[in-house]
Amino acid sequence: MNYELLVRPNILALAPYSTARDEQSDDEISIWLDANESPYDNGVNRYPDPHQRILKARLAELKGQGVERIFVGNGSDEAIDLCFRIFCEPGQDNAVAIAPSYGMYEVAAATNNVELRQVMLREGDFALPEQELLEACDDHTHLLWVCSPNNPTGNAFPLSQLERLCDRFQGMVVVDEAYADFSQRGSMLSVLENHPNLIVLQTLSKAWGMAGLRLGLAFAAPEVASLMARVKYPYNVNGPTQREVLCRLENTPLGEHVAQTVSERERLRSAMAACSCVEHVYPSDANFLLVRTADADGLYRFLSAHGVMVRNRHRVPGCRGCLRLTIGTPMENDRLLHLLSKYPSL
Ligand SMILES: *Cc1c(COP(=O)(O)O)cnc(C)c1O
Repeated sequence: MNYELLVRPNILALAPYSTARDEQSDDEISIWLDANESPYDNGVNRYPDPHQRILKARLAELKGQGVERIFVGNGSDEAIDLCFRIFCEPGQDNAVAIAPSYGMYEVAAATNNVELRQVMLREGDFALPEQELLEACDDHTHLLWVCSPNNPTGNAFPLSQLERLCDRFQGMVVVDEAYADFSQRGSMLSVLENHPNLIVLQTLSKAWGMAGLRLGLAFAAPEVASLMARVKYPYNVNGPTQREVLCRLENTPLGEHVAQTVSERERLRSAMAACSCVEHVYPSDANFLLVRTADADGLYRFLSAHGVMVRNRHRVPGCRGCLRLTIGTPMENDRLLHLLSKYPSL
């Protein structure tokens, strides 16, 4: 694949910031006087590894991908911004995205002065409008954004459909899989090698329970991962985060909470469908439910007045009347169900 036609010329020409430590193997050095750090060991006095080598090796093993295909950043948000910065010339190139979807695509497009063309998901079942997405593209469309499972609608799209988009679209397809661990659909990582124009985003913020550590992942062809590494801030993932994530990946299995969240999701879904204040509960492949009600603002105020914070999506095009509810612990979910059964007055 010829990335040169898609990448901004200034990025192609970029010489990355290099540290003295890139030129020398660590083993031969015992005294570090190259980076103007404090020499007094307090656990964080040294700059972290800008290449996150140990962490990437562990993630590569965990995900069954080569290290050369992995980018790690300060949350998925960093990877989202880098996609625009690398592939879209401000004021000239554009991107296409499904709607409703994750708000960061719009924010990152706007901060990079890139037009984002939003294509509504099919009314009723939020299916992927494959043809409309492709029709929204022109010669300057360099990115196509699909979130699957999608936030806030909760549904995942068939891998075969996403693969077809990769085959038919000339630019880069970014599939945001922040919620993939809660879904039965599988991951586009399984076909990454077949699609040089595919970028898969994942995160430790949801199923892995590490939102506070800020670690996002991108998987792509080695050429693309290396562009991302060149454009990122050198020390984009701090030392304590690299160490803490490694330690937690060793010691905490992903499975237990994911299985519980999924079973709680299904319990909530059927219980909420029986609440008179709920018109419809959309099926979900994620750790949240999108719920349509007759009076979203009223229900939102009622829940927050009783100490339960949810996300009001009523004003998002395509989500009229909808609240997005994260799946909590069984006790938290019981409390939510109790409040829903009492609405409008407790
Ligand atoms: C929560 C979420 C993320 C995660 O963002 P981080 O910056 O990694 O915490 C990414 N994409 C979507 C669609 C999300 O909902």
